[in-house]
Amino acid sequence: MNTTKLKISDLRDKFSNGQINLDPPYQRRPVWRTKQRELLLSSLFNGIPVPALIFHVRFDKKKKKDIYDVLDGKQRIETILHFIEKKILKDEGKLKVSFKNPNTNKLDILEYKDLQNKKINEVYSQLLEKFWGYEIPVIEYSGDLEDFFGNNVAAMEVFVRINSTGSPLKKNEIRHAKNSGHFFDLGLKLERKYKKLFHNKWKIVSKRDIDRYILHEFILELCTSIYEEKITNKREKLEYVINKGIFKTKELNFINKRFNEIINWIKSIFPNEEINTTRFKNKSDFYSLFNVLYSLLMDNYVSVDKKANIIAGNFLKSFSYRLNKLDVNVKPYNNNNNKIRDNDKSDIDYLISTKHSTDNIKQRTIRHNYILSLLKDGFFIKKKDKKRNFSTNVKNILWFEATQKTSKPKCPRPFNYKNCKNFLTYDDSQIDHNFPWAKGGPTKLHNAQLLCSVCNKSKGRK
Ligand SMILES: [Zn+2]
Repeated sequence: MNTTKLKISDLRDKFSNGQINLDPPYQRRPVWRTKQRELLLSSLFNGIPVPALIFHVRFDKKKKKDIYDVLDGKQRIETILHFIEKKILKDEGKLKVSFKNPNTNKLDILEYKDLQNKKINEVYSQLLEKFWGYEIPVIEYSGDLEDFFGNNVAAMEVFVRINSTGSPLKKNEIRHAKNSGHFFDLGLKLERKYKKLFHNKWKIVSKRDIDRYILHEFILELCTSIYEEKITNKREKLEYVINKGIFKTKELNFINKRFNEIINWIKSIFPNEEINTTRFKNKSDFYSLFNVLYSLLMDNYVSVDKKANIIAGNFLKSFSYRLNKLDVNVKPYNNNNNKIRDNDKSDIDYLISTKHSTDNIKQRTIRHNYILSLLKDGFFIKKKDKKRNFSTNVKNILWFEATQKTSKPKCPRPFNYKNCKNFLTYDDSQIDHNFPWAKGGPTKLHNAQLLCSVCNKSKGRK
C-alpha cells in the first residue's frame, strides 16, 4: 500500500491517457445526485480536504502502461472529469459551482467554461489554477488481484473496509468483485436489457437491489438453472458455474436465447405487467415460475399462443390470490397448519416453502412441482407435435390432390406475398403447417398445405 497525492491536472491526464479504469468489476453502483457533485466541486475550489481516492495499480502488458482500477472514488473522479469535459456522465448536465465575486460581493454560479473566460473576472482564472493544482490524497494498492481477494482473507477484509464509505460490501458484492468472465458478462447484458422490466414494471427488485448487484445475481441464478437444465440448490451451483470460467459461444447463446424466450412467455402470460400484483413478484416464486416455464419449453410446450397464455395468466393470478389469502395463517413449522383445511395441504406446503431457506433445493422442488402440475394439468397449454417435418409421402399426396383438377396448380399465397412464384412445381413446393407448428399445429395431413418456397419462407419469418 502506498499513500500519495494526485493533482487534478494529473488525474485528467491519466484519464485522457486511458489509464483510469472507472469500472472494474468490484465497483459499486450508487450514483450521486447533482447536489452532491456540486458540493464536491465547491470543496475542491475552497481547498476543503476530500477523502482519499483508492486505486489498485497494475501494469497492463498489452497497453504497456500502468492502469489505475478505481476501488473507491468513482463518483468523485467522474464528477471532476465531467465538470471539465461535460461528457463523462450521460445523465448529468453542466455542473456549476457558486463563488462569491470579490468585486461585486454577489454570488456567481459558474460552470467550467465561465471560469476559463478571463473576461468575467481575473480572480476566477486564479481559482482555476488552484483547482488544477489541488492535490487529492490517494491510496494505491498493487499486486495480484487473485491474491488480493481470493486467498488472502486479511486483504479481503481490507478491501471490504476501504470500499465502505458507509456500509461494508455485501456478500454478493464481494462475489461480484471476485468474478468476471463470459457467463458473468451475459448476466450483465441481460440485466441491462431487463432492468426496467424487473424493476419498474414487474417490481421484482428495488433500485437498491440493482445497486447492490442483487438483480444481476438473480439473473445469473436463472441463467444457471438454464445451463444446468434444472433448479439448483441455493447459490452453490452459481458459484460453480461462474468459476467454470470458459464457456462455448454455443452454450452462452443457448442460455441467452432460452432466457429471452421465457421472459417473452411471462410477458405474454401477464400482458399488462399484472405480475406485480401477484406473489410471482417475489424472487422465490418468480424463480419457480421461470423454471417451470423453462421445463415446459424444453418439453415442447407451446409458448406463443396468446389466448392460452392469457388463460394461464388468469390461472396463476387466481392461484396467487388463493395462496395470499391463506398465507396470513400459515406459519413455518406450525403444527396447526394441518388443521386449516385438509384439501389445502399442497397450498400450505407451497407456502411453507416460501417462508424459510427459500432457495434450498428441497423448497424449490416443492414449489416447482406444484406450479408445474398446475400448468401441465391445465387444458390451456398445448404441446407441440413431436415431429416437426412432414414426410415425403405427405408431399406426394398433396401434389397428387393439387394436380387432379389442373396441370398448373397455383400457390395459395396465404400472405399475398409480392414475390410469390404464383405457380407450384413439385421441386419448388414445400409443405407448410396451416396452423403453425410452434403454436401447436399438428404435423398431420389435415394441417398441411403446399406453398411455393418463397411463401413458405415468408410465412416462417412471421
Ligand atoms: Zn407463393
